[in-house]
Amino acid sequence: MTELPDHWQNFIDGSFVDGGAGWLDVLDPATGDAFARQALADARDVDRAVAAAKALHDSGAWSGLRPVERGRIVRRMGDYLLDHIDEIAPVLTREAGKPLWEARLEIEGAARYFEYYGNQAETMEGRSIPLGSGYFDFTTHEPCGVSAQIIPWNYPMEMTARSLSAALAVGCTAVVKTPELDPLTNRYFADAALSCGLPKGALNILCGIGKEAGAALAGHPDVNQIVFTGSVPTGVAIATAAARNVVPCVLELGGKSAAIVHDDADLDAFLSDVRWGIYFNAGQVCSAMSRVIVQEKVHDKLVDGLVAMAEGLEVGSGLEFPEFGANMGAMISEAQAQRASGMVSAAEREGARVATGGRRMNRPGFFLEPTIMTGVTPEMTIASDEVFGPVLSVLSFGDEDEAIRIANGTPYGLVGGVFTADVDRAMRAASRLRAGQVFVNEWYAGGVETPFGGFGKSGYGREKGREALLNYVQTKNVAIKLR
Ligand code: NAD
Repeated sequence: MTELPDHWQNFIDGSFVDGGAGWLDVLDPATGDAFARQALADARDVDRAVAAAKALHDSGAWSGLRPVERGRIVRRMGDYLLDHIDEIAPVLTREAGKPLWEARLEIEGAARYFEYYGNQAETMEGRSIPLGSGYFDFTTHEPCGVSAQIIPWNYPMEMTARSLSAALAVGCTAVVKTPELDPLTNRYFADAALSCGLPKGALNILCGIGKEAGAALAGHPDVNQIVFTGSVPTGVAIATAAARNVVPCVLELGGKSAAIVHDDADLDAFLSDVRWGIYFNAGQVCSAMSRVIVQEKVHDKLVDGLVAMAEGLEVGSGLEFPEFGANMGAMISEAQAQRASGMVSAAEREGARVATGGRRMNRPGFFLEPTIMTGVTPEMTIASDEVFGPVLSVLSFGDEDEAIRIANGTPYGLVGGVFTADVDRAMRAASRLRAGQVFVNEWYAGGVETPFGGFGKSGYGREKGREALLNYVQTKNVAIKLR
């Protein structure tokens, strides 16, 4: 593996710099050992980063470029990530614990955002609105200015790429606050910016403690727009800070998403969806399939298949898994692993059964066995609270109405799925599920092109797709009285 630097810096106004809040140890989740140190920003560093982003925005050197030129730079940043994937992937695996092949997928996903939004840069056209003779009226989309982007640890590269590429494509500048647990690989966006000709100040990347640097960024008076992915309490804090400054924000806050499995579903195919749905990234995915709601006639057969699939997964250090396969890495931290295993024990006390897994593994690092809970009922805590780990809850239903009622019975509403051979049934579920995205017969169907975001406590606003471009612009109407 490439020799890693010991010390990783922040990136402000085109330069790598230390931070005013000292250094943070970054742990390898597969061992629990520190392997690198990250510079920590304080509120003054945040001020400097926002000032750089604002100065560049005000200069018009980025927002005033012909959109095709901006788009080309954004696309090149994605190409840079792909060109350096062999260098980046092991760092991502070491800081986040995910298998090497998953790290590569994440980097490819990050690059894909830059390709998609780079291509969209020149599509932000306004419209002309008829006002009768004597008037000419048109709209334009102007970049908001400085976009503050607060990033979670589960997909540190993909989450940054998702917001950053769209913001840059429409002409915004950005200050990114990276997650404390795995901040290192965000540095490669800075390298991409330097290598691809992004003007100094257009991208600033800081790591800092959430309640300090994160809060300073969210509440900064020169920030014009905020995008946040993470927990509900932090989302509320950020939305409150945004409201105080009267700036828009986009919140993506997780979920407790359910797959409804009817008795006519292709159960063998569904097992592969579950493997991706709950064990990809060790279940630390906001849109994870954390609940399966199965028709009672096929419940036992499905549970047998689920247990065999979960027990067939090899669990270990991400570096041991270079190729796509039936394997799973560590969870991100001791705290997250303890929280997840604690939720399993609490569910057992409430009457659920552990069909397989449920225990911390007897080895160093932050590992939890791939877990299936059966006998889960809608009133149990595990049926409505996000575990954010490799823990699947299985519930059963009698008729279609009951299935929808259970699926919609949590405060969240991020994604939902229905598995059936009956297209009418699928369409009924699609219209009744309270979720921003509905998957029919394939969990995670869709991609960068398809809008993503939640109902209820899952947040508001949409990322991905063309919808996300509107997060980063203001629409201006110009009405002209003709003489
Ligand atoms: P978090 O919401 O506390 O942290 C996410 C980001 O917000 C980090 O960059 C953090 O530094 C920053 N932050 C924290 N407090 C802040 C504040 N007051 N102001 C501004 N920024 C702040 O999430 P966490 O503690 O890392 O994880 C806790 C739970 O959040 C998880 O168990 C999981 O349920 C959920 N989560 C969800 C997602 C998702 O994709 N929806 C991702 C990560 C975590």
